[in-house]
Amino acid sequence: MAWDFSTDLEFEEKLAWMREFVREEITPLETLELDADQLRRITDPLKEEVKSRGLWAAHLPPELGGGGFGQVPLALMHEILGQTRYAPSVFGNNAPDSGNAELIAVGGSKEQKERWMQPLLDGKLRSAFSMTEPGAGADPTLLTTRAVRDGDSWVINGHKWFSSNASAADFLIVMVVTDPDAEPRRRASMIIVPTDTPGVNILRDIPTMGEPETKPGRPGGHAEILYEDVRVPAENMVGNPGDGFLLAQQRLGPGRIHHCMRWLGQSKRAFDMLCERAVSRYVHGSLLSDKQMIQDWIATSAAEMQAARLLTLQAAWKMDQAGASGARTEIAMIKFWGASVLYNVIDRAIQVHGSLGYTTDLPLEGMYRAARAARIYDGPDEVHKVTVARRILRGYEPAEVPSEHVPTRREAAKRKFAHILEAATDND
Ligand SMILES: Cc1cc2nc3c(=O)[nH]c(=O)nc-3n(C[C@H](O)[C@H](O)[C@H](O)COP(=O)(O)OP(=O)(O)OC[C@H]3O[C@@H](n4cnc5c(N)ncnc54)[C@H](O)[C@@H]3O)c2cc1C
Repeated sequence: MAWDFSTDLEFEEKLAWMREFVREEITPLETLELDADQLRRITDPLKEEVKSRGLWAAHLPPELGGGGFGQVPLALMHEILGQTRYAPSVFGNNAPDSGNAELIAVGGSKEQKERWMQPLLDGKLRSAFSMTEPGAGADPTLLTTRAVRDGDSWVINGHKWFSSNASAADFLIVMVVTDPDAEPRRRASMIIVPTDTPGVNILRDIPTMGEPETKPGRPGGHAEILYEDVRVPAENMVGNPGDGFLLAQQRLGPGRIHHCMRWLGQSKRAFDMLCERAVSRYVHGSLLSDKQMIQDWIATSAAEMQAARLLTLQAAWKMDQAGASGARTEIAMIKFWGASVLYNVIDRAIQVHGSLGYTTDLPLEGMYRAARAARIYDGPDEVHKVTVARRILRGYEPAEVPSEHVPTRREAAKRKFAHILEAATDND
């Protein structure tokens, strides 16, 4: 089947509007130190503008107020929004709220959609996704946080960390073990927990390379949480007991495509800085742009970004055709490839700026710190490589003699064409 990444004229016009809107109205905000109130007062009218153009929470299906555009147009949209940190929230699709809204849209009950998802989409509530534990991350079958059914409630006990935005969230979607005796991928479930439920103890926002100075209550932190006898109504479970892994897959599939396109938006910014510096800086008798080593970085970066873009669009296209599970290999491939391209391009852009690249006078050092995390969150590179390799290897059978072994193939070819080869010999 031919791949088709084209978008219609109407959506192209929307993309053109988004490019200008993000560049002119949103990107300048990243240079200001804004408190929550100032940010809200500046971005509320921008959000209204986005809504009036039908682009708010565009990742959701139309019946839930989204655009129903499909993954390819959404990917192109995220490439634009990824350029600057406030753009996703102005468009109603900032992580983790966008993924959590999608999760409830896919697996939640009517009541959950009304009580949690709709206010999330309206920007009235904030959420977090609480899965990783100090002892279980890349392998979630090792999760130990436990939910036990007690009458009409679930009672949760456990220790999580890296729940992004949790200290600023109104509710958490917590991945818990509900049936420890089931087969590993049917043990876990997801439960909605309001953050103010007694027993939800947010210990701290963990200082990280991306956010060395944490301010609890501010979005962007990664919380460590102790769940101690946290009691929530049974109807807070999303889907059925044992659905946790299935829901996680559905949540993370589209999210990874959007991450990759946002990373391309970031890569392009770094690339533009790289090229601008190359044509501006004079050293050792010529401009940097005349040095072959710098030309190598520019050509390599351009090729890596183009490859990442095509891989991501192809994954988006496959997801539109075959759903998230049908596109698992492609999604895993872009997750590790996209993260490494982002990292490499920013690294080269820093290098070409020398000491200036290392300073906070340019956004590159912050982009670099954030990029490092991309190789870890939503599954580390190695896990995605394992997924890709395993799925590819399913198409191969062991062979005692390599199927390309030339002497063996020659014998087979001689047998196949014996009548012609013998006739030719007879005629000699
Ligand atoms: C900025 C950031 C935000 C995050 N946000 C959230 C969030 O909102 N909610 C949430 O629940 N979690 C979140 N996480 C956690 C993230 O999902 C985990 O860090 C990730 O799944 C890896 O788990 P781990 O850190 O426990 O690493 P481990 O499981 O200890 O793995 C350590 C390393 O082992 C290697 N490894 C693992 N498996 C294999 C394998 N099969 N083969 C070879 N090597 C392997 C990899 O190099 C990996 O990096 C976030 C993390 C970061 C950094």
